[in-house]
Amino acid sequence: MKSGRKKTGVLLVTLAALAIAIGWILYQMPTGRALAPSGGGAAAGEASDSSGGHSTDGAASPEAIPSSSQSAKPTQQASAAPSAAPSTIPSSTPVASNSSAPSTVSGSPGPSVTTSGSPGTSATPAVPLVPYKGCVEHLFFHPLVVYPELAFDGDSMAKGYFDWFVTAKEFRSILEDLYRNGYILIGMDSLYGVRTDKENKPEVYTKELLLPEGKKPLILSVDDNNYYDYMRKNGNIQKLVVDKDGRIAGYAIDPSGREITARDNDIVPILDDFVAAHPDFSFQGAKGILALTGYEGILGYRTNDPSSSTYEQDKTDVERVVHELKATGWSFASHSWGHRDARKITKAHLAEDTDRWLKEVEPLIGPTAIYIYPFGSSVDRDPDKLKLLEDRGFRVFCSVGPTPYLKATKQALFMDRRHIDGMALTETPKRLAPLFDAAKALDPARPTQEP
Ligand SMILES: [Zn+2]
Repeated sequence: MKSGRKKTGVLLVTLAALAIAIGWILYQMPTGRALAPSGGGAAAGEASDSSGGHSTDGAASPEAIPSSSQSAKPTQQASAAPSAAPSTIPSSTPVASNSSAPSTVSGSPGPSVTTSGSPGTSATPAVPLVPYKGCVEHLFFHPLVVYPELAFDGDSMAKGYFDWFVTAKEFRSILEDLYRNGYILIGMDSLYGVRTDKENKPEVYTKELLLPEGKKPLILSVDDNNYYDYMRKNGNIQKLVVDKDGRIAGYAIDPSGREITARDNDIVPILDDFVAAHPDFSFQGAKGILALTGYEGILGYRTNDPSSSTYEQDKTDVERVVHELKATGWSFASHSWGHRDARKITKAHLAEDTDRWLKEVEPLIGPTAIYIYPFGSSVDRDPDKLKLLEDRGFRVFCSVGPTPYLKATKQALFMDRRHIDGMALTETPKRLAPLFDAAKALDPARPTQEP
C-alpha cells in the first residue's frame, strides 16, 4: 500500500517533468529563424560571384603578395559535387533524440541574448542553447599592421600591404561590430567530429551546432602567423611572447627602434582582451585558428634553422607561447611548409612539402586536422592530392571565397573563408555590411588609394 502510493507519486512527478520538458521544447522551437539554405546555397552565391572565391589569400612571403593577375580561378562550382555525396552542414538534419533536456551555458548575458551587446557577468543566469541552422561565417586576417608608416611607405611591398592587411585600429573596429551584430566565436570542432566506420576507417561526421539563442557562429583564422622577415620590416610585430603577467603579448620594434611588449598590437592579445571584456563573444572559450607555414619558423621564432645560435632557446620559448595559446582557446592549422600553391605544384612536391611541415612544425604545436591552403587554393577536386593530405591526417580544408561555404563528405570538411583586408574593406563594403561597417573601420593612416 505504502509502496503503491510511492509509485503513483513517482509516476506523477515523472509525468509532470515530461510535460514541462515538452513545453520547454515547444517554446524553444524556432519560428522566425531563417531556415537552412539548401545544399550548395552558399556555393551558388560563390559561383555567381566572379570577384572573389578561392583566389585571395596572399601575403605570406614576398613571393606570395600576389599581383591581381595571379588570382586563381574559382574551382568549386555550385553544380559540381564530389562523388561522395556531400551534405551541406547548415542543412544537415539535427539529431532530435537527445535534445529534450536543454543544454545551457553559463557566464553569458541573460536569456534574451540580443545584439545590443552588453557584456555578461558571472552573476547572470545561464543561457539556453538552441540549434543553429544558418551559415557559418569564417573570416581570415593576416597579422596586423601596427606601424602604418612602415607598411604604407611606398616601397615595393606597399601595395601588398594595402591589399592584404588590416591595421590594429581597423581590427578593433571590426571586432566591435561583429560582437554588436550578434556573432560568437566557435571552434572548428563544434562543426564536425571523426569516428570509425564499419571498415575501421576514419569517417568525418557533422555535429548539430547548439549556440546561445540569438547568436551567429563565427570562425576566425590568421594566415601566416609566422612574422616573416619581410613582415618585421614592414609594420607588423616581431613575435608573440609570454609577458610578465604570463599572458600572450606582441613584441614589436617601433620605427624609432624601441622595443615594445604590448597587448594592443596583435590579433591574439587584442582578441584575448576583447573576450575577457565580452565573454559572450566566445562559445566555450574558442578564439581563433593560427595558420602556420614552416619556412621561417613559427610565431616569430626561427625554429626552422638548427644552425641558428638561438635555435634551442627559440624552441624553448615557442613551446611556452604555444602552451599558453592552447590554454586560452587558440588552435593551429597547417598553411603548408613553403607557402606553395597546392593546385599548381606536383603531387610529389605537395607530399614533400607536407611531410616537411609535419616534421618541423607539428612537433611544436601538436597534431592538427586543419589545412588552410595558401593563395586560397584548393585540391578539393584532385582526388590524388586530396587523398595525400587526408592520409597525413588532414580533415578540414579551408579555401577562400566571398560568401560562407561549407560542405562535408565522409572524408573531409570543406570550408571557404572571407578575406578581411584592405581590398575587402575598400572594394566590398556592401557585402561585408551584415558583418561590420567597412567604411567606419578604415584607418585614417591607410592611404586613400591603392598605391
Ligand atoms: Zn598565406
